Amino acid sequence: MSEQRTVIVGAGQAGGTVAATLRRLGYPGTITIVGDERWPPYERPPLSKGLLQGQVEIDKTFLRPVAFYAEQDIALVSGTQVREIDRARRELRLDAGDPLRYEQLVIATGARARRLNVPGSDSPAVHVLRGIDDALALRAALAPSSRLLIVGGGFIGLEIAASARALGVAVTVIEQAPGLMGRVLPPAVASCLAAVHAGHGVEIRTGVALLGLAARPGGGVIAQTSDGDMPADVVAVGIGSIPNAELAKAAGLNVDDGVLVDEFGRSSDDSIWAAGDVTRHFNPLLGRHVRLESWKNAQNQAIAVAKAIAGQPAPYAELPWLWSDQYDLNLQLAGLPQGGEQLVWRGTPEEGRFTVLGLANGRPTFAITMNQAREMRFAQQLVARGAPVDPLRLADVSTPLQRMVA
Ligand code: FAD
Repeated sequence: MSEQRTVIVGAGQAGGTVAATLRRLGYPGTITIVGDERWPPYERPPLSKGLLQGQVEIDKTFLRPVAFYAEQDIALVSGTQVREIDRARRELRLDAGDPLRYEQLVIATGARARRLNVPGSDSPAVHVLRGIDDALALRAALAPSSRLLIVGGGFIGLEIAASARALGVAVTVIEQAPGLMGRVLPPAVASCLAAVHAGHGVEIRTGVALLGLAARPGGGVIAQTSDGDMPADVVAVGIGSIPNAELAKAAGLNVDDGVLVDEFGRSSDDSIWAAGDVTRHFNPLLGRHVRLESWKNAQNQAIAVAKAIAGQPAPYAELPWLWSDQYDLNLQLAGLPQGGEQLVWRGTPEEGRFTVLGLANGRPTFAITMNQAREMRFAQQLVARGAPVDPLRLADVSTPLQRMVA
């Protein structure tokens, strides 16, 4: 039998979870994680929330205490980039040191923040938010008297807006699309979110494109937009992310906006697996491949990969789910809105809490809760079951949602 040797590229949430799960399952082989950041594996959700607000310490974001890796005989190689996968030799070339041999390889390289490409994008006033170091740099740039321009009204942009308001910073959000969260939420729900931000003093300007950034004497920039010039001390960019799939593509693996993997996380090479933001994975519940950027996906897909490597395969088959915290608002989304669904509301935005189910041909396909987390479990069950529901009964808040599931 060949030596059991698993190497994980990317020391993020998925990479760290694969390693920890392998050990939990009793995997006896060597495990090495190679990551290009200077930090041990950490969770990113606090970066745009507590860490940016200065309320969460850096080490509280760590997936596991630093000592865990040595205790579990997991070699953690930080600050090192994998440059190439040599599939013929089953070796990785690193930016420093000797090549690293693998028997099983896991690609958990995540995604990177998409950058602006307008003139002036290289201004020191411009920030993205993907890693701890980005969050620290953005926090250091934000003073209560500063004026922050956020480019992009998606989850990251809006979480930055909420955190910046908590710091007393003046915030403007520009979004090129006609509404916020256009890729993720139905417009009616996105409007509720926009109203919450407006209520917290955020200036939201939709349908506005950034054309360029000109340096302002004394610091900051003048943002030239399709709606005129806007001065800003700091610019935070939240315009989506790009999967770090170049390594896999260069190695000849099947890649299509993410490393293509099956429900076990296996790529087009039997000894190479992938998990987390970098994958476009087959979801048996949806019957198609999807690329997700969410904590739960990184966690549970990584667990499925570890189980497969440890010889205890169990498919990753879950409804996509994510949450976002902005101010005192908790938003959760299960399933993937496609647009055009019938929306059934339980509760109203005025009450500050509601559940929305999206129906396609009378069957629930997604659920959203705003400050209504306790309904999410049952809403998820309705969506996972996909059976037709009576919209009038569903909208009746006097009928507990769990009764609709029973
Ligand atoms: P990552 O955590 O990005 O880890 C990948 C690691 O691989 C990185 O450290 C990267 O530098 C490294 N790497 C890349 N290429 C190489 C290479 N060639 N060699 C070595 N190392 C390499 N999800 C939610 O559900 N709810 C939230 O509220 C939420 N908030 C978020 C807030 C922020 C600011 C961000 C950025 C994300 C948030 N997410 C949230 C999404 C969630 O954090 C991600 O889906 C998750 O981190 C993905 O984990 P991953 O391991 O796939 O990738």
